[in-house]
Amino acid sequence: MKVLLRLVPYVQSHVLAFSFGIFGLLIARIFEAMIPMYVKMGIDNIAEGKTQLASNSLQYADVQSTLSYPAIAIVFCVIGQMVVTIISRILIRRIGIYASFDLRNRIYQHLQLQGSGFFSQYSIGDLMARAINDIALVRQVIAGSIRMTMVLIFTASVGLIFMFSLSVKLSLAVLLPMPIISFVAYHFSKRIYQQSYRVQQGFSDLSTFVQENLNGIRTVQAMAQEHQEVNRFANVNQDYANYNLVLFTTTSLLSALMPILAASGTLIIIGYGSFLVSSGEITLGTFVAFFTYLGLLLWPVREVGPLVTQWQRGASGTARLFEILDFRPEIQNTPDTAFPDLTGKIKVKHLYYQYENKNKYALADINFEVVPGETIAILGRVGSGKSTLLRLFVRLLDPSSGNIYLDGHQIDGFPLPQLREQVCLVLQDPFLFADSLGDNIAYDKPDREIEEIWESADAAALRETIENFPEGLETILGERGVTLSGGQKQRTALARGLIRMSPLLILDDCFSAVDTETEEHILSGLKKVRQGLTTMLVSHRVSTARHADRIIVLEEGRIIELGTHEELLDQGGFYADLEKAQTQSRNTRIAAIRAKETLAVLDE
Ligand code: ADP
Ligand code: MG
Repeated sequence: MKVLLRLVPYVQSHVLAFSFGIFGLLIARIFEAMIPMYVKMGIDNIAEGKTQLASNSLQYADVQSTLSYPAIAIVFCVIGQMVVTIISRILIRRIGIYASFDLRNRIYQHLQLQGSGFFSQYSIGDLMARAINDIALVRQVIAGSIRMTMVLIFTASVGLIFMFSLSVKLSLAVLLPMPIISFVAYHFSKRIYQQSYRVQQGFSDLSTFVQENLNGIRTVQAMAQEHQEVNRFANVNQDYANYNLVLFTTTSLLSALMPILAASGTLIIIGYGSFLVSSGEITLGTFVAFFTYLGLLLWPVREVGPLVTQWQRGASGTARLFEILDFRPEIQNTPDTAFPDLTGKIKVKHLYYQYENKNKYALADINFEVVPGETIAILGRVGSGKSTLLRLFVRLLDPSSGNIYLDGHQIDGFPLPQLREQVCLVLQDPFLFADSLGDNIAYDKPDREIEEIWESADAAALRETIENFPEGLETILGERGVTLSGGQKQRTALARGLIRMSPLLILDDCFSAVDTETEEHILSGLKKVRQGLTTMLVSHRVSTARHADRIIVLEEGRIIELGTHEELLDQGGFYADLEKAQTQSRNTRIAAIRAKETLAVLDE
């Protein structure tokens, strides 16, 4: 229950509207509670009228007039109750909507700051479930449960006050079963909390499953795993259904118990009340009014079941939301002290990096310097630490020890937005948005000139691709860019990176799906476009790396070779071997093509 208090800041700004709403609910209850009073007045008037009629001292017309006053009053009460209820409901409902609006924004902002540790702990499906389902539960608490609880408390207390004013003895008798009712409600509420937490978790699992499956649907289909996937889904779905069933059983049990306990109140009134009437302690009108008030009192008791459920589900949803909001982003943004623009000068000193779940350094004792305008190629086997190194430059990761200096300043001294604006990282596995090609390229600034977009498309060898689409730059890409081939996606991402003309551009293996000729073509163009700007790129091809000013070779997280193309060839190490192997295979390829051509000529 304590977790619900954390919602207070989100409703605080609506305190006034909220108080009006609650006040309205109280007024409505008073209107409602006045009705039995007029009923009692009418009945007692009739009873009195009867005796007077019998003694011939009263006319029928008089009886009618004594009844019309209570009748009109009742109509007024009903209308008053209705109007006030509607207004206060709307007021409170609005607060629920606004509070969940604020909460959704907060969560979204918070997600933007999170790093890889967070996203490996929470799947996208889980986060979606929390952002949609759990927030809905929270809204229900604010707009539904609070209102309902207030209504029930007001109804019960107003009912009690009127009851006590009519007969203290009978009221006390009616309250006898209350302790049992409270005990039962408390006992059930704890179980409902745990069970609904599990239901929400089950929903998260379900949504994670669907999200992953749909993302990987091509793999699933290509490997003919549809049947297995359907079965696995059925299992997750079954779990979810089971959790729901357990929760439903508990809540139904509670909802069924409450009316039984409540019915005991009716029995008490019938027995003890009729005794009091016959002994003349209360009038018949009071007896009838008591039944109506008992209704006011018992309605809340009957509603305790669903209400406890709603509160506990809301509390479990709130707990799940704050679990996300409490997750401290791994990369902390430093206070905004703007630095001058970067020149692209880099110094890496005794840099170590170790992933939390690994016992080996992914990078160990990395040292190198880059002068502004240099192009550095990074080579190495898969898993040698290339991507890890590059991620450190945009602070997707922070070094375990050692440091990176940009223009002589420690990298974590830069405000994150400034750093990421000036250091542009293009990933191997690019993400494209379900938007037009042009908007994907001009993602950072949608109002860029068309010429600018074409320029960077040219530099990324993308012009032909774009012109082949009937709609050109306006071509809408499918979700994640499914309508493009792997190479086209990589080149689009490259254009998106190039267009920023950032002082430091980092290309992480973003030619892996591009053929050698295109890659060389792009790279020779790149040197012209990025004249004077620093570029670091990962490549697997010596034919590409040779265009770089210097080359770094990584092996198991360490730099094993560093120098120009010629220097490394002379060293006769990894790089020289790679060069030999790749030229050989290239020559073989060329020879094969030549042979084919010769055969074709002979055929003619
Ligand atoms: P490369 O880009 O050269 O292929 P990486 O930098 O991706 O290499 O990986 C270097 C090492 O770090 C590998 O051993 C890899 O398994 C490990 N590694 C990479 N990413 C993670 C991660 N998110 N969590 C744990 N280990 C990782
Ligand atoms: Mg990599």
